[in-house]
Amino acid sequence: MVSSSSAPPPIVVIGAGIVGACTAAYLAREGAPTTLIDPGEPGMGASFGNGACLFGSSIVPVSMPGTAWSVPRYLLDPEGPLAIRMRYLPRLAPWLWRFSRAGTVTRSEAAARALRALLLDAHEDYAPIVADTQAQDLVQRRGHLVVYETEESFRADGASMALRERNGVQIEELGPAQLREMEPELAPNYVKARLIRESGHTTNPLRLVQALTASVQRQGGRVFREKVVGFEDNGSRVTAVATERGRHPASHVVLAAGAWSGMLAAQLGDRVPLETERGYHAMIRDPERKPRLPVMSGEGKFIAITLETGIRFAGQVELASLEAAPDWNRARILLRLGLRMFPGLGARDLEARLTTWLGFRPSLPDSLPVIGPSSRFRNAFHAFGHGHVGLCAGASTGRAVADLIAGRVPRIDLEPFRPTRFN
Ligand SMILES: Cc1cc2nc3c(=O)[nH]c(=O)nc-3n(C[C@H](O)[C@H](O)[C@H](O)COP(=O)(O)OP(=O)(O)OC[C@H]3O[C@@H](n4cnc5c(N)ncnc54)[C@H](O)[C@@H]3O)c2cc1C
Repeated sequence: MVSSSSAPPPIVVIGAGIVGACTAAYLAREGAPTTLIDPGEPGMGASFGNGACLFGSSIVPVSMPGTAWSVPRYLLDPEGPLAIRMRYLPRLAPWLWRFSRAGTVTRSEAAARALRALLLDAHEDYAPIVADTQAQDLVQRRGHLVVYETEESFRADGASMALRERNGVQIEELGPAQLREMEPELAPNYVKARLIRESGHTTNPLRLVQALTASVQRQGGRVFREKVVGFEDNGSRVTAVATERGRHPASHVVLAAGAWSGMLAAQLGDRVPLETERGYHAMIRDPERKPRLPVMSGEGKFIAITLETGIRFAGQVELASLEAAPDWNRARILLRLGLRMFPGLGARDLEARLTTWLGFRPSLPDSLPVIGPSSRFRNAFHAFGHGHVGLCAGASTGRAVADLIAGRVPRIDLEPFRPTRFN
């Protein structure tokens, strides 16, 4: 807890995931007094175990024309990428209704355009704050592959690839021989691939958040391990952030609490339909084989990626609450599919080297985050709901929020991300 003093109160960023850490990093490098508050260690939310992908091409919203037709197929496949906890359906129904309405041609095209604008400069926006961490090795840019076991699934992905291309993503098609040359460890049954050279990744998503947080502290920012429960205000401005342990006077507030942002956003005047798309990973330490590039399975919709800490298979969408118990079978599915993709892996003492993880994507039904000023208080800003692309969009979101707070016009048009779009 902070006691009041004559110094101007800091900008308080709520949530030390990748979005909060990037926002705090942008604020700190401008010399703004910055406080980052999280009940846990920085980076231990969704930002801990994600697929580590920094893909500017991750612009295809989850709800697309035809998505509804794929759902039964995914649900019936015991190794499919989607699961829904039926007990949760009644609570989920309003979100699913909005989700299905977001899947028209017009809306999904608009969402893709908005996401492309948000993700286009991800690397340029990470560059200065990562340079401040002095750990530039954390972010790399070497491209990524999408690989297919059949011509049919290669063709089935055509529409989403065309949407990317319409938004300026360059995609190269590879046959089996070229694919083998690029990824020699891949199972021989992959017949086609797409290569997107502009893509990047981080070698360790957790260390990236930790490094950004440490950089904020080096620049004078402060980090508190407390849970934010509410706000104090004077009618038009938030004056302090209330935590379970006390209060933090604030000049401005940024809400970046990922999947846990809903209640706090409502207190700031904006009710948004935030749900969680839960996801899993399975990781093998000291792998015998390593993919050279991040490899996305066209069929299984998961990513296989080599990190500092091992090889990670990440993916799955499980619609259930924040509280429901993990279904570790979802992580086992990823492991099985990953071992099929890279058959040379996991031969030696697999269980001892295996770790699994469940994380909570913060998701709005239109696959767009909420970035912008709160409806009630002119010094409070939202920065949450990044769904499948929070790592890709973290730096650009942080930069845009720092611009808003400083009174500058952000480079990105934030209109598609306004919190009031669901009213
Ligand atoms: C399996 C999986 C794979 C993924 N792969 C990718 C990928 O490859 N690329 C990509 O871009 N994205 C990916 N994502 C999505 C990405 O991980 C998220 O979009 C991103 O991590 C969200 O970041 P965040 O900072 O908003 O939330 P989080 O990282 O969840 O951070 C929110 C923080 O807020 C804190 N908090 C909660 N309540 C409070 C409170 N009351 N007071 C203060 N703090 C609070 C939490 O403790 C947490 O630390 C993936 C997600 C999953 C699950």
